[in-house]
Amino acid sequence: MRTDRIMDSPTHRIVIIGAGFAGLSAALYLSGSGRKVIVCEKTSAPGGKAAVFEEKGYRLGYGPSVLTMPELIDAEFAAVGEQTRDWIELLPVEPTYRAHFPDGTHIDVFREAERAAEEIERACGGTEAAAYLRYRRHVERVYRCGFPAFVDRNLDGIGSLAPLAMARLAALGGFGGLQASVNRYFQDKRLRQIFAFQAMYVGTAPQSARAMYSMVTYMDTAGGAWLPRGGMHALPRALAAAAEAKGVRFRYDDEVIRLETSPKGRFRAAITASGERIPGDAAVITADPAVSLPTLLGRRPRSFPRLEYAPSCLLLLFGAGGKPEAHHSIHFGSRWTSTFEELIDEGKPMSDPSFLVSTPTVTDPDLAPEGRHCYFTLFPVPNLQTGDIDWSAERAALRDYMQNVLSRNGYGEVLDDLDVVRTITPADWLSMDCPAGTPFSTAHLFRQSGPFRPRNLLGGNMVLAGAGTHPGVGVPMATISGRLAAERIIGHRRSAEG
Ligand SMILES: Cc1cc2nc3c(=O)[nH]c(=O)nc-3n(C[C@H](O)[C@H](O)[C@H](O)COP(=O)(O)OP(=O)(O)OC[C@H]3O[C@@H](n4cnc5c(N)ncnc54)[C@H](O)[C@@H]3O)c2cc1C
Repeated sequence: MRTDRIMDSPTHRIVIIGAGFAGLSAALYLSGSGRKVIVCEKTSAPGGKAAVFEEKGYRLGYGPSVLTMPELIDAEFAAVGEQTRDWIELLPVEPTYRAHFPDGTHIDVFREAERAAEEIERACGGTEAAAYLRYRRHVERVYRCGFPAFVDRNLDGIGSLAPLAMARLAALGGFGGLQASVNRYFQDKRLRQIFAFQAMYVGTAPQSARAMYSMVTYMDTAGGAWLPRGGMHALPRALAAAAEAKGVRFRYDDEVIRLETSPKGRFRAAITASGERIPGDAAVITADPAVSLPTLLGRRPRSFPRLEYAPSCLLLLFGAGGKPEAHHSIHFGSRWTSTFEELIDEGKPMSDPSFLVSTPTVTDPDLAPEGRHCYFTLFPVPNLQTGDIDWSAERAALRDYMQNVLSRNGYGEVLDDLDVVRTITPADWLSMDCPAGTPFSTAHLFRQSGPFRPRNLLGGNMVLAGAGTHPGVGVPMATISGRLAAERIIGHRRSAEG
């Protein structure tokens, strides 16, 4: 039986700080339960990290490039009696991605099992295709066991983990190494990379991540990917519009600069930069806690641990011509284990980088002028906690570095035909309030995950949501965190869980 702690005082008026995916999710669940909700957002639009530059007819997103687990979005809309399709169209991204390798070969990853197996048979042979089907069944079991027990619920310490689920996860090898588990199934190095690199989504190296993170591989490869029509930024706009239609009030361009609390530390009101005092019975804080809490509360909560952050990224965004083959392309370097050591342990850029190129115009051509494309290229780099690189001074050199790598990988002609170009470095992420200059928040080391991640209930009537708290980073996790924050206020919505 679940015994999550919830607020015991009256909670009719709720103030939410931040209109990213976490804040929007909390707003919809709270509004759906009859609460009066105000969302304060310091920028001029909803979306948070799902932000966009608009220039010369291009809409260049510089946050999440695809949506996974759209069922979580359906549940959010359903919380206010709405359906996703009435607010936004989700376009399937097929293949989910194309993986390119230094030997010139590629492998497409499809969400549908049979199609994925056929592609693996084409590229790697029948034995590896059979291994894929076995591995897929294995990661599905890990997901079905680990997700409800470890991710999709509020946790109040290690004691709230369901012992049966933990035993099953252990029996599935979930606490062993991720890369070792993948290697037991696949002989082909390329498949060992494809089914382990998702550790990077949660800020760890495949060789040091626990195998239970294969649930991310499951969400990514078997769950598939979608692009909201109009780009990723169109999704938070649609969520905000649905919330507004149900009576949620949004205050844009109004940063919360302080939380007024009682002598016992209970939230009373949010004070905004415009001088407004917004009273409430409870607050949901979705700004990164490490950055925001000392300012908002005037102190660092005692329980807040020192955290290790995920690696950061360099982005090169451009609008150009070309004929991209796939929406999502991952280019793997030939080095593997050592490349993560450089990035995470030594704080150096990858000497043989693996990187992502996303061209959303393959799925939604209206994001660029006719016949042109949006390119989002992402290179993992060290965060400011481990790396000692002067990113501001190196901007021009970095652009050359990324362009050289891209040219060597077949993007030379495109780079000669640019209309718009932007670079984002860890220094830019830092100026956007990302601790350690990484937009990927606290790394999901085992000691910073599940019951060991900064807890969402701050005590009294304040609750955290967003990538910096449980369950973690990414659009699905931020969306879940908003629902979990709402559940701290209204109680949890389902009854039968392990
Ligand atoms: C380059 C990049 C690529 C990514 N790729 C993917 C991907 O492909 N798939 C995926 O699932 N995830 C991806 N992510 C991660 C994902 O985008 C984030 O984890 C998620 O959007 C975080 O949502 P959030 O609501 O927790 O935080 P945020 O989006 O950061 O929202 C917090 C909001 O709070 C506001 N705010 C902060 N302080 C205050 C204040 N004092 N007063 C008022 N407002 C305040 C901010 O302006 C912001 O709008 C990517 C992120 C980046 C940057």
